[in-house]
Amino acid sequence: MSPPKKNRSVFFYRRLIAVVAINVLPLLVLSGLLYSYIISDYKSNLIALMNNQIMLLATTSESALLFDDAEAAESVLSTLELNETIQYTQIYNADNQLFAQYRHPEIINDTVIEHFDKAVEFKNNNIYINYKIIKNGEYLGLVVMSASTEGLAAQKDHLLLISVLTLLGSFILASLLNWTLQKRLNTPIRDLISLVHYVTKHKRYHKRLTTDQNNEFGDLIAWVNTMLNTMELHENERKASSAQIIQASKLATLGEMATSVAHELNQPLNVIRMAADNCRRKVSTGTADTEYLYGKLSRIEQQTVRAAAIIDHMRMFGRKAEEDPAPVDPRKVVTNALDLMGEQLRLAGIELVTELAEDCPFVLGHTIQLEQVLLNFLTNARDAIVQREDEAKITLRVFFDDEVVQISAEDTGGGIPEEILPRIFEPFFTTKEMGKGTGLGLSVSYGIIRDMNGTIVVENIDNGARFKILLPCVRSVDKTKRHFS
Ligand code: ADP
Repeated sequence: MSPPKKNRSVFFYRRLIAVVAINVLPLLVLSGLLYSYIISDYKSNLIALMNNQIMLLATTSESALLFDDAEAAESVLSTLELNETIQYTQIYNADNQLFAQYRHPEIINDTVIEHFDKAVEFKNNNIYINYKIIKNGEYLGLVVMSASTEGLAAQKDHLLLISVLTLLGSFILASLLNWTLQKRLNTPIRDLISLVHYVTKHKRYHKRLTTDQNNEFGDLIAWVNTMLNTMELHENERKASSAQIIQASKLATLGEMATSVAHELNQPLNVIRMAADNCRRKVSTGTADTEYLYGKLSRIEQQTVRAAAIIDHMRMFGRKAEEDPAPVDPRKVVTNALDLMGEQLRLAGIELVTELAEDCPFVLGHTIQLEQVLLNFLTNARDAIVQREDEAKITLRVFFDDEVVQISAEDTGGGIPEEILPRIFEPFFTTKEMGKGTGLGLSVSYGIIRDMNGTIVVENIDNGARFKILLPCVRSVDKTKRHFS
């Protein structure tokens, strides 16, 4: 079972947004505050400067207004030339008539004063300040002074540029930091994921992780490695004991098969004995011609080959399985098992039916072990059938479906009672009499098939039981055939 897939990019972007927000937002707020502080400071400084100037002008222009001396007022105004900031100053008399004015040499256009009543006004990149001249409660006139706020605008732009650049820099730094962190965090996690994936998929525990990180990740990896050491140790122990059980059960099967093999060997031996007997008789009566003798000797030879094949097979079956699993032809397993037990089953009056799919994919495992599973099925089927006087038939089928190969053994032995069905795979569970059953057959079979990444399904059918082995097939059938046929 594989874990649910997570959308890793969402996680990455969330973290990026979080890092950027943490880094950039305070900077944004800070630069906003700094911006408004500097701007308002600039404004209030400008207004204070202009207020000083305007009050000075108002005091010095009082007498000029009283005596209607515009020239004196103009000369007072001309002192403003020294001031670079002031651009325009006008003095109006009590009737709001222009009395005197000063214009900075670089200013060409006149300024239209619209609001004489407003003390401070910002308009068209200018600041306007009005100051009423009142002497002993009498309104003498008004001084209007204007200065350019372009410096302020330039300062605003400057500040904005600095803010944007700082934000951009901070964003790039935050992203770089995030990326580096991400890499440092992700690499060991990715390694861990692929290791866990490998262990889950292949059930092999020999791989280890390495890391140069001397932190929590280093600890995690060290602990995972320790865990894998333990798992590998347990797996090796399990394999060793399971191999021992398989071997023991195999020897038990061999023991059980002794009668069957005796039958199998009996047949060629009988043929050999009869052929030899016939030859001896012919030779003693002097009627044996060369052709006759040659035919009989060939027959004897054929039968010895058959007997040797049976003995070889028995020897192979008794051997411990080789370590690495290899592609196995499931049909070959069926015919091998029948070679060993077929004759015995037939002698017991059991009809044998085989249906083997053509072009069947191979499975990965050990031929002998798979054969052992089938021999267990056949022995159980035989034991169930011989107790009854009903139809006696065993059907072996090999077929495949998509990626799964199925080997089924069906019998007419009356089936497995429902109450013992959940227990039949338990080790040492048997319903057979002492000395006949070990109760290991199905539990060992279960272990063998599980190690091949397969399953055994058992069900009761009409008149008996059906054991079905489901195994994943080796990917490319053609390739496998080329290599192993
Ligand atoms: P054993 O054959 O030594 O008893 P197994 O593990 O092979 O051990 O089988 C356990 C039990 O399962 C058998 O004793 C029998 O009761 C039941 N069983 C297995 N196969 C069949 C079958 N084809 N029909 C009926 N019962 C079966």
